[in-house]
Amino acid sequence: MTAAVPLCAIVPPYVLDRLAEAGHEPAVRSLALDTAHRAARLTAPPPTGGHPAPSRVIADDGHSQRLPGRTVRTEGQAPVSDQSVNHAYDGLGATFALYADVYGRRSIDDQGLRLDATVHYGQDYDNAFWNGQRMVFGDGDGQIFGDFTACIDVIGHELTHGVTQFTAGLQYQDQPGALNESVSDVFGSLVKQYALHQDSADADWLIGAGLLAPGVQGVALRSLKAPGTAYDDPQLGKDPQPAHMRDYVNTAEDNGGVHINSGIPNHAFYLLATALGGPAWERAGRIWYDALTGRRLPADADFTAFARATVAAAKARYPDQTSVADTVTASWAQVGVSPG
Ligand SMILES: [Zn+2]
Repeated sequence: MTAAVPLCAIVPPYVLDRLAEAGHEPAVRSLALDTAHRAARLTAPPPTGGHPAPSRVIADDGHSQRLPGRTVRTEGQAPVSDQSVNHAYDGLGATFALYADVYGRRSIDDQGLRLDATVHYGQDYDNAFWNGQRMVFGDGDGQIFGDFTACIDVIGHELTHGVTQFTAGLQYQDQPGALNESVSDVFGSLVKQYALHQDSADADWLIGAGLLAPGVQGVALRSLKAPGTAYDDPQLGKDPQPAHMRDYVNTAEDNGGVHINSGIPNHAFYLLATALGGPAWERAGRIWYDALTGRRLPADADFTAFARATVAAAKARYPDQTSVADTVTASWAQVGVSPG
């Protein structure tokens, strides 16, 4: 049940499909909402100028499914009693900080785009998404998923779909779609690592750690360190991600397995970051950022084309350290991708 128009939601459709087929009501309703939003993806709001600081507006849907909802906290205002509001505010700020501090990017469009978010969307809504205009968070049903504002890597993942939208514009299908998903996982994890001041060796390399409700057998939605091991649960099924091209999944589901085969480039990034050592947002992150935003990557880039772009980016940024580009090539080779 994949749709032609992408909805950049954090929970892949095959997970909700499985829950819905087992009769899990919140999943049935969440899928229906996702389908509606796929049909209604919007163009981005106008930028607010070259602000060096974030401009955040958090709204509360009040479970009504009417976007954008009532504004409850704007930039510079003190925390409120509703922790979902504060988590969304902080997660948007942490994402802005990584891109601004490390990569010199002014918001997701590099022109100071206002960061809008809506919390408490729908009833027991089991997802969070970027609709081209704002971030929207469900509370989760409490049985399978908890509050989607709880994980800053999920917020970083979703906003990175915005960065990709404004830069490489990777098509949301097959390998370019899996790259689109993968760069969101990579920078989502980097948002968390940067906020926690973690070295690549200390990070958990998980997406959505703490999102699964108590009792669900799993630690997160995905793992860059060990793709395919994030969960194995009677209701959710088993994490289907491969870590190597020999296990590439050919499927028509999930826009050609965009949330599945993203495990391969995800793992290449993990291997590079840990081989280089130190903070992953530094050399490994810069190489990936340069490849994504360098304006040379075609929108239909496959894994090989992206790997080639990262090797070129490494050579350009670290001309005196040839070992860096060699390490990039070696990391791709370990997941079965040859940059050539
Ligand atoms: Zn995504």
